[in-house]
Amino acid sequence: MSKTDFHMHTVFCDGKNTPEEMVRAAIEKGMAAVGISGHSHTWFDESYCMAKEKLPAYRAELTRLKSVYADRIRVLCGIEQDFYSETPAVGYDYVIGSVHYFRLGDEYFAVDEGNENHRRAAEKYFGGDLYALAEEYYRTVGLLPEKTGCDFVGHFDVLTKYYDADPELDVTHSRYRAAWQRAADRLIEAGLPFEMNTGAISRGVKKDPYPSEEILSYLGQKGASVIFSSDAHAAANIMFAFDRLQSLAEKYGLNVVEI
Ligand SMILES: [Zn+2]
Ligand SMILES: [Zn+2]
Repeated sequence: MSKTDFHMHTVFCDGKNTPEEMVRAAIEKGMAAVGISGHSHTWFDESYCMAKEKLPAYRAELTRLKSVYADRIRVLCGIEQDFYSETPAVGYDYVIGSVHYFRLGDEYFAVDEGNENHRRAAEKYFGGDLYALAEEYYRTVGLLPEKTGCDFVGHFDVLTKYYDADPELDVTHSRYRAAWQRAADRLIEAGLPFEMNTGAISRGVKKDPYPSEEILSYLGQKGASVIFSSDAHAAANIMFAFDRLQSLAEKYGLNVVEI
C-alpha cells in the first residue's frame, strides 16, 4: 500500500500549519499523495471551521500547491463536510462526511467537545436517556451519504471521544449496538469506505483509533472498506500511528482503499 493521508486540517480552519507546510511534510515522509480537508462552514459555530469568505482562497491555494509540487506528490483539495453545514460541498476533489453536532429542536450540541454537552442534550431532549441521544447521533450518521454526497465517512463513532476517561454509557448495551449497526449497514449499502482515524490518539484523548475494535470486526464481516486518516491538526501528526491501523485492518480482514 502506498503512503497516503486524506484527512488533515490547516490554518484555514483549526490546524496549526499552512497547507504548504503540510504538503512539504508529506513529501519529507515520502508520501505518494496528500489531501487537505478543511472543516466546512457551520454558521451556528464558527469557532473551528473555515470562514465562508475564505473558501475560494482555500481552493486557490490548493490549486497552486498541486502545480508547484506536481512532480513530487499528488495533492488533493478535500473538505470535511459537516452534516449540518449549509454550504454545498462542491468544487473539491473529495468529501469526508462527518457528524459533529446533535441538532435537537433549534439547538446544536457539539458531539466531540466533551461529555457534558451529551448530558445537557440528553437531559433537555431525552429525559436524560443517553442511549436515545446515541440513537439520534447514529441515525444522523446513517444519512451522511444523501446529505453530504461524501466519498468516505469521518470518525464513525466520534461520540465516544471522551469515553476512555468517562464512559457515560455502556458501548456493549443492545440499544447502543443496534444504533451503530443500523448506521453501518446503511453506509455499507451506499458503498462508502469508513475512515480509521487516529486523530484523538495523537491529541492524547483516546488510546485507540475510531472506530472501536468491535465495530471494525463487524465491518470486516460485512466486507466494508476502510481508509486510513490521521485527522492531523499539525504537520508532525500526518500518518500518525498508521502502522497500528494496518495491523487492525489485517486483523479484521478490512479492505483498505485510497483516493
Ligand atoms: Zn471531524
Ligand atoms: Zn477532521
